[in-house]
Amino acid sequence: MDFNIAVIKGDGIGPEIVDEAVKVLDKAAEKFGHKFHYTRVLMGGESIDTYGVPLTDEAIAECRKNDAVLLGSIGGDAAVSPWYKLEPQLRPEAGLLKLRKSLGLFANLRPAYLYDELRAACPLRDDIIGDKGVDLVIVRELTGGLYFGERKTFVADGLKTAVDTLSYNENEIRRICRKGFEIAMKRRKKLTSVDKANVLDSSRLWRSIVEETAKDFPEVEYSHMLVDNCAMQLVRDPGQFDVVLTENMFGDILSDEASEIAGSLGMLPSASLNETGFGMYEPSHGSAPDIAGTGKANPLATILSAAMLLRYSLNLDKEADAVENAVSSVLKDGLRTGDIMSDGMKLLSCSQMGDAVADRI
Ligand code: NAD
Repeated sequence: MDFNIAVIKGDGIGPEIVDEAVKVLDKAAEKFGHKFHYTRVLMGGESIDTYGVPLTDEAIAECRKNDAVLLGSIGGDAAVSPWYKLEPQLRPEAGLLKLRKSLGLFANLRPAYLYDELRAACPLRDDIIGDKGVDLVIVRELTGGLYFGERKTFVADGLKTAVDTLSYNENEIRRICRKGFEIAMKRRKKLTSVDKANVLDSSRLWRSIVEETAKDFPEVEYSHMLVDNCAMQLVRDPGQFDVVLTENMFGDILSDEASEIAGSLGMLPSASLNETGFGMYEPSHGSAPDIAGTGKANPLATILSAAMLLRYSLNLDKEADAVENAVSSVLKDGLRTGDIMSDGMKLLSCSQMGDAVADRI
């Protein structure tokens, strides 16, 4: 089959890591009889240098025409880059926020997977990780809740006072719940919905809609967990989780906690999806300007983001498995980039790592 992918290489190490992900995608396409058509789109610093703004309307329109967007990372070193002398709305990061909003990407997926070979990078004790390991995904609502509610600062009774509003309507909750259950169906069919229903009305509404949605997914085993308990359970027994479904702020905090458990930044993919399955896929790390152009970047987070693109936007599960298995196999063979290097392993450059993954598909 033919698929269209918008590619935003971005700044810093962005172009290097995206080239490796495209190399791996092309190998998967060749192996499974597909054709991927790529369109370059500019965003971030590169777009500022070319068009004077971090994201043009044409760039947004181009992304919409494609089946998915693959993004490297954007931004520069704020201490030296001229981009950071511009007004905040003209800086590279403003382009990314605008693009996420324009594409209606309300569901953020952050998997945390601990490779056996990288166990030493996990800050948890070996007996906590046990035989189950860590293989979970946080499904976070991204466009509602406390970060988007009404807020104000004022003086009341002579005291400075600030108010933030945590508001969700049933439709906003329903669409992220459906997404969470759909993702559970593609994984081990277990979902933990995280809320604070003992205190918050928004959480009680959330819980009732999880119950309602669950009826459409009878194969998924689901449960509710309070957010404070979840924060504790993640470091006490992370192997119990498959899909963790939660609202915006809880997800923000829990996804950073979960990613720390999985060790290196260079290994962590992410996806942001809209209702139709269209999505933007990017590594969780930034543009690492300190190592840009040196060949030291680890492309695996971007390659694993491309695997998510295959699975969630193109519905190519076998192809996604092939990419993920190739990454596992590279690690088993002792091949490493500098950031995940340890004694006795073989050090590869960014493009050698891309070759090694592509060779194993
Ligand atoms: P960073 O993630 O770019 O780098 C942090 C450290 O991790 C650096 O030492 C870097 O060399 C290393 N690192 C990151 N990714 C790596 C990889 N793939 N392989 C090997 N080492 C890697 O964070 P930062 O330095 O705080 O930010 C740099 C720029 O990236 C800033 O302009 C920031 O705004 C931007 N940023 C962009 C995104 C995005 O595009 N979504 C996300 C975070 C930060």
